[in-house]
Amino acid sequence: MSLEDQTERDAPGGIDPADLVGGPQGTTTLRARGSTLVPGAAQLARLDAVALPNGDFEAALAGAGFHDGLRPAKVDFFQINIGRLCNMTCRHCHVDAGPDRVAENMDRATVDACLAALDASGAHTVDITGGAPELNPHFRYLVDACVARGKHVIDRCNLTILLLPRFADLPAWLADRGVEVVCSLPHHRKPNTDAQRGEGTFDRSIEALRRLNAVGYGQGNPKRTLTLMHNPAGAFLPGGQASMEREWRASLQRHHSVTFDRLVALNNMPIARFLDWLTETDNLASYMETLTNAFNPAAVAGLMCRNTLSVAWDGTVYDCDFNQMLDLPTDVPRPHVRDLDMGALAARRVVTRRHCFGCTAGAGSSCGGATT
Ligand code: SF4
Ligand code: SF4
Repeated sequence: MSLEDQTERDAPGGIDPADLVGGPQGTTTLRARGSTLVPGAAQLARLDAVALPNGDFEAALAGAGFHDGLRPAKVDFFQINIGRLCNMTCRHCHVDAGPDRVAENMDRATVDACLAALDASGAHTVDITGGAPELNPHFRYLVDACVARGKHVIDRCNLTILLLPRFADLPAWLADRGVEVVCSLPHHRKPNTDAQRGEGTFDRSIEALRRLNAVGYGQGNPKRTLTLMHNPAGAFLPGGQASMEREWRASLQRHHSVTFDRLVALNNMPIARFLDWLTETDNLASYMETLTNAFNPAAVAGLMCRNTLSVAWDGTVYDCDFNQMLDLPTDVPRPHVRDLDMGALAARRVVTRRHCFGCTAGAGSSCGGATT
């Protein structure tokens, strides 16, 4: 089958209602609600309005010895957010993804510009995220092009997407290419996961994990790596990553006969739908105090913005996926993937604001989990 045939086969044309997993308590996207928090500037203003004694992130960096702010290291990870379309509407989503985000999907020309920039960047890993990235019609083309370049490829998968009939072959297809699958599974217990991601999510996720196990994922083979991602259910920090991994492993094996390779724990970022939830439940000030009080100087060196480039569906380049959602492009003259000047990128200063305390709290938090 040619790549063009695959593209045709995967073209979503929106989402069939039967594909949807309803959000918890009827959660919808901020966009669909017409929320005042849709612009990144409104989210930043909401965070800045919180009275915080230690709320200056640049001052916290200076206190940790980073007097010149955050400066990038070598680019290791090339992260591509290929769209905000998703079959789910999770309560904590920092992307504000959902079934109504049909228009925000990367086109083929921008995918090709990403591949050219990837070649120039020297990154060893391509991290493909969304939304549900598999819904982008060019997903398989992008994966194949990255694998052909010898890159390690990560698919950030919401698991439920694998149950849609048109993706029935996807676990084996990913396995054939050695793609690492990084899956959201907030908790190993059904009520905790469904409360964040919607009724029925846990059962569908377990079935998807079984399908991944069936093609060799989650059994210690570095060409079939299955990573689970945990984030807390509320306005608190995650527990220790290593102890949670042991707990998840024992529970999923015992109750569901499911195996995985590693678990990463992420802090919830106070942006987008989680910011809206914090505000609605009157938890915003206390959560921001939790994050600032837990500032960990040892987490700074490993922040993902130091070794990652993040490209949005429209080709705009950011220091990280969170800055992307806050409309804070990287600080170079032409922050578009078509125009990237690697020298200017290497000399830039990472753009930071108060949400950055979400990455430096506790054990630190990045797309790869704890940073310390
Ligand atoms: S958290 Fe992931 S699965 Fe949930 S709505 Fe956002 S992108 Fe989709
Ligand atoms: S939010 Fe982005 S820019 Fe801020 S510390 Fe985290 S990774 Fe770096």
